[in-house]
Amino acid sequence: MQDFEIQGIGDFIIKMKEIKFKVKKNGCHICTSHCVDEEGYVICTKKGKTSPIYRFIYRFYKGEPKKGMVIRHTCDNRKCINPEHLIIGTHQDNVRDRVARGRSAKGLKNGRSKMTRQAVLKVYNDKKTSRTELARRYGVDRQVIRKIQIGETWRCVTSI
Ligand SMILES: [Zn+2]
Repeated sequence: MQDFEIQGIGDFIIKMKEIKFKVKKNGCHICTSHCVDEEGYVICTKKGKTSPIYRFIYRFYKGEPKKGMVIRHTCDNRKCINPEHLIIGTHQDNVRDRVARGRSAKGLKNGRSKMTRQAVLKVYNDKKTSRTELARRYGVDRQVIRKIQIGETWRCVTSI
């Protein structure tokens, strides 16, 4: 287990909790210190907004991506934060990858999740409404609701 800290990346200063990760055999750095959102990306919270950590990592090591370009994982592991596994591609590349991997999923139509922190908290604290109903209400898969409620995702939001 290695530790390192990121502070003052690019033109914004971020102070995030220490990032810890495990190194896997294939070289992936699996982040263990931060929680994951419903799509499985490791996220950090800044001023109440969440962003995937790999974006900060990419900027820190490789600079700001060009406009319109997206950061992609070569290893297809969303928890991976190894800068060597992060490359720049187009949105089309991403879509093509997803289709190729059989994951052109519902809920990913707009690329980003629909759950906000407030929504996550409401879902987590709502013990009366059925998961099916909550899923319908937020336009997400029932699994997304289940994972929030059992604390598999978004724990950094719900455990406060
Ligand atoms: Zn990786």
